[in-house]
Amino acid sequence: MHERISDEIIEVLEATWTSEERGSASEQRIADEAMTDVTEALLVECEEEGFIKRFGNGQLKLTDQGRRTAEEVIRRHRLAERLVVDVLGMTIEESEADACEFEHLVAPGVTEAICTLLGHPRFCPHNHPIPEGACCRQSEDRLNSVVISIDRLPIGEIARVAYVSARNFPRIQKLSSLGVTPGIPIKVHQRFPSFVIQCEETQIALEEEIARDIYVWRK
Ligand SMILES: [Zn+2]
Ligand SMILES: [Zn+2]
Repeated sequence: MHERISDEIIEVLEATWTSEERGSASEQRIADEAMTDVTEALLVECEEEGFIKRFGNGQLKLTDQGRRTAEEVIRRHRLAERLVVDVLGMTIEESEADACEFEHLVAPGVTEAICTLLGHPRFCPHNHPIPEGACCRQSEDRLNSVVISIDRLPIGEIARVAYVSARNFPRIQKLSSLGVTPGIPIKVHQRFPSFVIQCEETQIALEEEIARDIYVWRK
């Protein structure tokens, strides 16, 4: 049993993770982005606990231990955002949750169940990558009935549209005008040279990135 990590440390780790995603992390960037007051004492604590490594020039980096801890929090945070948008049908703003509260919407013990329910989504509604969990890797070769994005559906297998990811509303409207709406049977016609789905009698060529927004329910 290790002691609970403080919310302040978690905020620093999250801000370091997102900064690293966009290139590199600096103490200035962390201070601007963290939802907490990033003091010198807090940075020293993060380093002494082995979560970050600081370099003399104001740059810093997550250690392996820091990455593991941040990854878990980022994963829960972004899955919670998907839950709010896809299942509750709200926008992030409508949910009225503060940015630092999202990870608390998903309890650590049910992360995998939520991820599976949502079809192992790869991106949050802001289009930031959701770190993979063990459930996402297993689902590649598990043949159970879950919701998956259509780019993961084997060619020819008929599934039903569960929902179209709400990350881009004009895109939802466009797909809807093409007949891609919840409940409709759909299959992958081909992957190469272009990704083509068949929705009732209509064949639709899509960028694979757009296909990832279509979640289907396998029978
Ligand atoms: Zn997000
Ligand atoms: Zn998963």
